[in-house]
Amino acid sequence: MPSAEIITIGTELLLGEITDTNAPYLARTLRDQGIDLYRKTTVGDNAKRIAQAIQQALERSNIIITTGGLGPTVDDPTRDAVALAIGVETEFQPELWEQIQRRFERFGRIPTENNRRQAYIPKGSLPIENPVGTAPCFIVETPEHAIISLPGVPREMEYLLQNAVIPYLKKRFDLHGVIKARVLHTAGAGESQIDELVGDLEQLSNPTVGLAAHSGRVDVRITAKADSEAEADAMIQPIENDIYKRLGNWIFGADEETLEQVALGALKKQRWTLAVVESGLGGNLIKKLTSELGPFLGGEVVPNSLNPQELSALTENYRQSRGADVGLGVVIDTTQGKQDVFIVLITPHGTQQLSRPYGGPPASTPIWAVNQSLNLIRNL
Ligand code: ATP
Repeated sequence: MPSAEIITIGTELLLGEITDTNAPYLARTLRDQGIDLYRKTTVGDNAKRIAQAIQQALERSNIIITTGGLGPTVDDPTRDAVALAIGVETEFQPELWEQIQRRFERFGRIPTENNRRQAYIPKGSLPIENPVGTAPCFIVETPEHAIISLPGVPREMEYLLQNAVIPYLKKRFDLHGVIKARVLHTAGAGESQIDELVGDLEQLSNPTVGLAAHSGRVDVRITAKADSEAEADAMIQPIENDIYKRLGNWIFGADEETLEQVALGALKKQRWTLAVVESGLGGNLIKKLTSELGPFLGGEVVPNSLNPQELSALTENYRQSRGADVGLGVVIDTTQGKQDVFIVLITPHGTQQLSRPYGGPPASTPIWAVNQSLNLIRNL
């Protein structure tokens, strides 16, 4: 399986003035093709430093993809940097210059002498025509490597990646492998509890198992590399079964399933309807419940100074006013520096009052409270 690195080029990117969306897009696309991604690097508009980054990447990886720095100005250093990295000159390519002129003509414009710069590419490289922009792109081939330079503008980069680069890589590296992921979503346990139960699986190499915590929810991701999707599924299945056995009811769904969908599904099963009163959650619980079709009859955001008794009374009143079977009230108690989440749950079977202290960063308390509440509903 070939390995790859991504080098995104641009001083604005390096200094955080614009967000790098090209690297994540490239990473996902390469993963889907079964290519091992080793590293992502960002370099400013400096030909020498870019050349260095490319040389280092060549020592580790087969495929190096750069984005950006292919514009017409002296500040666009990628052509020179790639040439420098492999020890060749840039060379004027008359066909590329014609392509640039034709594209300008189509838009009723005349290219400047600066645009001629874009027709110079490293000697011996293969030009990639760019029908969606003016910057010509190119591939430098060595027996082991391909250095592929794409434009910085995301729309152009994505087009060329899908239409020219991926077909090229498939042929050149005989790609038929896939990387497939299955994500199991859990709620009700912390990351360290989950880690304690599946930690040994996190040492596996193919499939790999990894955790990602999201304030009150933890995802367990199983990723397999294989020659076909069916083979990847067959590798994932036994690990998935094993994780289900270990984590049991903490797992509420997989892949695209959300906690709100599952919570509303649980209510539907009981043929119960729900009304919600929330305070200090930024309206997020109501927003999540409203985004799904289901037995949610309405919600109200109330001031954040309620004590547990007041919340209980308000929740019951609101539940009755909406004619709902279930009333859920949630408030965050921040008195004396606390981050306690207080929840009232009224169902046809009775009333529960729960107080749950939250130990994470205060900015995450509302989302943690939302997940705690949805998880309670899911377990009704
Ligand atoms: P052009 O010939 O169109 O100028 P270029 O290859 O020279 O293309 P850059 O000048 O480096 O590309 O970038 C053009 C614009 O594309 C940037 O101003 C920025 O808005 C966007 N861009 C560049 N790189 C990235 C990136 N990695 N992620 C997101 N946007 C990017």
